[in-house]
Amino acid sequence: MSNTNNIHPIFDRLLQKEDREKRLGQKAKVLWLTGLSGSGKSTIAQALERKLYNEGFFPQVLDGDNIRIGINNNLGFSIEDRKENIRRIAEVAKLYLNSGIITLNSFISPTKEIRSFAKNIIGDENFIEIFVNTPLEICEKRDVKGLYKKARAGEIKGFTGIDSPYEEPDNPDLEIRTENLTVEESADKIFDYILPIIRI
Ligand code: ADP
Repeated sequence: MSNTNNIHPIFDRLLQKEDREKRLGQKAKVLWLTGLSGSGKSTIAQALERKLYNEGFFPQVLDGDNIRIGINNNLGFSIEDRKENIRRIAEVAKLYLNSGIITLNSFISPTKEIRSFAKNIIGDENFIEIFVNTPLEICEKRDVKGLYKKARAGEIKGFTGIDSPYEEPDNPDLEIRTENLTVEESADKIFDYILPIIRI
């Protein structure tokens, strides 16, 4: 149990999220992209970030790899470390959220428990779950980082989709089936969905 007795949050004396949203001309949200490795989360997040920016919004991508080499570089892939990884990511996303920013998170986040943990930190009303649904065979065929090959060869243990489960979301806010879509079409689908939500 951490000792928080002597910490006095000063959030009520600071500028509020609404002040910053007004300045930025948008409603801040956290878009939580979940899906298998290679499903397209990072690529879509990058395309969507650019599109949002070009349309006058103020977005920020948080990506698995840049987080793991930075703030989470002391974490591995044990159950506890995976949970701590997501906890920190969700807390960072929450800071961005309160800064009025539209955050695009692309993390496998393989279990319902881990996603609901993140959602609890961020808050229901600001958490938009987007399931990037690409069949395992296609992710494996793409094998962008050569990780499936290594996992099949037994060089990586506990790889999501191979020897560690991926639990599909029951009720995502949006599902993107990338199989027959281009990256632009995938990003556009998300953009069209969130536009009424982020527009002031
Ligand atoms: P993830 O972040 O989910 O691990 P990546 O974005 O790194 O996945 O890799 C997805 C790969 O699939 C990229 O090489 C991308 O160009 C390709 N791809 C093909 N079609 C699509 C699509 N419709 N949406 C997203 N990515 C696609």
